[in-house]
Amino acid sequence: MSYCVNCGVELAPCERVCPLCGVEVANPRQPYDPNAPKPFPARLDIFAPTDNRGFLSLIITIVLSLPAAICLACDVAYTHGAGWSMLVIGAMAMLWVFIVPALYIRRHAVLVLGVLDTAALWGYLWIVEHFAAKGTWLMQLALPLVVLVDILFVIDYFLMTKVVFARLKRAALAVATVPFFLVGLECCLDWYLDGRISLSWSFLVSVPCLLFALLLLVLNRRERFKKEMHKRLHM
Ligand SMILES: [Zn+2]
Repeated sequence: MSYCVNCGVELAPCERVCPLCGVEVANPRQPYDPNAPKPFPARLDIFAPTDNRGFLSLIITIVLSLPAAICLACDVAYTHGAGWSMLVIGAMAMLWVFIVPALYIRRHAVLVLGVLDTAALWGYLWIVEHFAAKGTWLMQLALPLVVLVDILFVIDYFLMTKVVFARLKRAALAVATVPFFLVGLECCLDWYLDGRISLSWSFLVSVPCLLFALLLLVLNRRERFKKEMHKRLHM
């Protein structure tokens, strides 16, 4: 039995070069024998990758439809109208939009799925407002927050695909986005609860976020740290 002198892989007598690294086999005790039986079958079968997405989508659709249908039936039977069951139906529909399109969309997936998921979330919030918790919270609190998250997401997505490529810089960008969200959140909450805006806690939380983003940018300039990260975390 021979072993490759370079990578140590076990070699069959019929192999003239190592199948792994290509180094020529040199073993005076067991010279290369072209007539020795091949360790692998000569026939090569190529299987086309199976596409299970259709089946998976069907299973997901059935699994999500079942609770929706049962709740609707109970709701109609006991309260004679589609009321609370709409919350379950809406939640299942939202989950469906979150999961199934992600199986199919490949081009600009992050952006397209982001738009779809936002639309689904808006739809569900509207259902909650319409069927369960009527009030101004949808227009004054929930929708502005969803729009804010979407805007920040699109900005970060654009910057990360076109401008910022280093991993640590991307992490810094993501961390630096948090304060914008926090300030927006406090603005929306203040406006909804008091009708006026006075920022306080969002600034307190934003400062450590910005400092951490700055730290990541500084670390990005340290080659030794980046090498350690690559070695230990495969980043
Ligand atoms: Zn080898």
